[in-house]
Amino acid sequence: MRPRLDVWFTEEHAPGLRFSMRVTHELVRRRSDYQEIAVLETQEFGKVLILDGYLMVTEKDEFIYHEMIVHVPLAVHPDIRRVLVIGGGDGGAVRELVRYDTIEEIDLVDIDPDVIDVCEAWLPQLAEKLRDPRVTIHFADGVRFMRQVSRPYDLIIIDSTDPFGPGEGLFTREFYGSCHAGLTEDGILINQHESLFYDEYRVAMRRVHDRLGRLFPVARVYQAHIPTYPSGHWLFGFSSKRYDPLLDLDAEGWLARGIRTNYYNPELHRGAFALPNYIRRELEGDRQARLK
Ligand code: SAM
Repeated sequence: MRPRLDVWFTEEHAPGLRFSMRVTHELVRRRSDYQEIAVLETQEFGKVLILDGYLMVTEKDEFIYHEMIVHVPLAVHPDIRRVLVIGGGDGGAVRELVRYDTIEEIDLVDIDPDVIDVCEAWLPQLAEKLRDPRVTIHFADGVRFMRQVSRPYDLIIIDSTDPFGPGEGLFTREFYGSCHAGLTEDGILINQHESLFYDEYRVAMRRVHDRLGRLFPVARVYQAHIPTYPSGHWLFGFSSKRYDPLLDLDAEGWLARGIRTNYYNPELHRGAFALPNYIRRELEGDRQARLK
């Protein structure tokens, strides 16, 4: 009997630590001008989007990330009408945004048109709302795009890859400064803030948190459990010119919208900002040192 092919996708989460999932089919793999793009069918997590060998989203747990990157700011800011998503070419953040009929315009800026092509073809669960009439897709580097923004946004979501390769510029002081300038007087910036559990991004993300704290009067971090991301303990940045993510949470107003979610709810929102001490020390330690 021919031996059964046993194929696994493996991602290194830290030196000496690998995360693997069994692959049943490779659905597509191609190289764009910016990165290698692949979609794999896996036994446990369904279809999985991989960029340059790094796991981006899986059918099974993407709802956690996309609900948390969108519903947290939407439950705080009372009047979000214009939204900018930087990155997010898989469409998951846009899918959650278009559920708000009060949002009038969504600009999506992704550097790589091939990501959108692949996701519309192979991951319709994510990309299905990219053609909503309120959505305008721009194929551009988010760093350059921010330099020419003329009308401010109420909400900017940085749904980027990790801080290297094409995404590296989306973690810089200059970029955050242009995001601050591109927001309204009461605007909110949300960024994917990696994880601090392993060493790889700890220094980079502490620097990010410090940069945002120098720009915004409110610079907080919140958490979610995302099984396929390194350590499973994933963080998001909440930076705001006016609103506090807990004091200004409008739980009743959000619930009254009747948006059905599978992860987000207002109680979880409050708990998401209750960070473990090791993370508070990593983040505030720098801030405390700066305040002395
Ligand atoms: N949710 C995923 C995560 O947390 O890793 C990432 C979502 S999405 C697939 C990331 C997107 O960022 C990709 O489509 C990539 O093309 C885009 N991207 C990377 N660098 C960029 C840049 N400088 N400007 C705009 N988009 C960029």
